[in-house]
Amino acid sequence: MAMHHFLKTLHKDVVTVVPDHAPDFLHWVKDYDQILAFDTQPDAVRDAISSADLIFSLDYNHLPRVGNDLCPVLETCGKPFILIDHHQQPGEYPQVIYSDTSACSTCEMVFRFIEQCGWKGHLTVDIAACIYLGIMTDSGSFRFHSVSEDTHRIAGELIALGLDHSEIHRQVYDTNLMDKLKLIGYALSEKLVVMADQSTAFISLTKEELLRYNYRQGDTEGLVNQALSIRGIKLAAFFREGSNEIKASFRSKGTFDVNAFSRANWQGGGHINAAGGMSAESMEITLEKFQSLVHRHAADILAS
Ligand code: 5GP
Repeated sequence: MAMHHFLKTLHKDVVTVVPDHAPDFLHWVKDYDQILAFDTQPDAVRDAISSADLIFSLDYNHLPRVGNDLCPVLETCGKPFILIDHHQQPGEYPQVIYSDTSACSTCEMVFRFIEQCGWKGHLTVDIAACIYLGIMTDSGSFRFHSVSEDTHRIAGELIALGLDHSEIHRQVYDTNLMDKLKLIGYALSEKLVVMADQSTAFISLTKEELLRYNYRQGDTEGLVNQALSIRGIKLAAFFREGSNEIKASFRSKGTFDVNAFSRANWQGGGHINAAGGMSAESMEITLEKFQSLVHRHAADILAS
């Protein structure tokens, strides 16, 4: 949405499309209601793509990341793509690639893109809020290794534009519903498994358990980091059962590369210390597979 609002200042006709809607804690973003989500408005998304002159791929670097249904629409649209992204190993489909795997977030790169093009004068408080939000959420609130001096310079410039950074933190972190907190409490007290000898911890939640706590999209965001926060733990995983598959999240401290781990075993990818993937097996088989992989990689995990 930072790019959306920025392109509007250049009087471009912009439509933002996503595979599915963002969690509630992001709906305050200006003009969120103008975003088209493919899962609820597939025809409008198809029309927007077929009438576009140019498509920006933001925060993903392979077309399959947009999901099985939207992917073929993009693959066959025949439009030029500009990619701005910070994930590992970008695909080759875009005509222009701005990839920086050291950047803490794509939003930081969007700021640099605007700056390098000489358009910083077009920044507004609304654009600043979107960029700050993206940097903050992708950097663990400015704590990960990928946060640089330049990340803080950019945050400083955004605040200088009149941004209320504290309000953004409040909207994201202080708007929980009771059900979400109870789900997290249940996951931590009943479903956390610690493999102490392998410095690994994992949590799993089945569909039935999610339903019990009226799960809403985004409710388990960050849960994997709770497992990683345990003293001595170097690898953490979270498995959430969805309607067709199990979604996996992996986090590591140090050198254990969860991007490679996920690419090799979970049809996924991401970053060295944060990655995701999936499993088409039952929860029981998925957890057995994870534990046997952990045993196989134990030396690398412990050395990390
Ligand atoms: P999360 O665990 O929060 O869903 O994702 C962590 C990181 O891994 C994010 O940067 C996300 O884009 C990436 N990621 C998550 N799932 C997948 C996946 O299935 N494939 C790939 N290539 N990356 C993923």
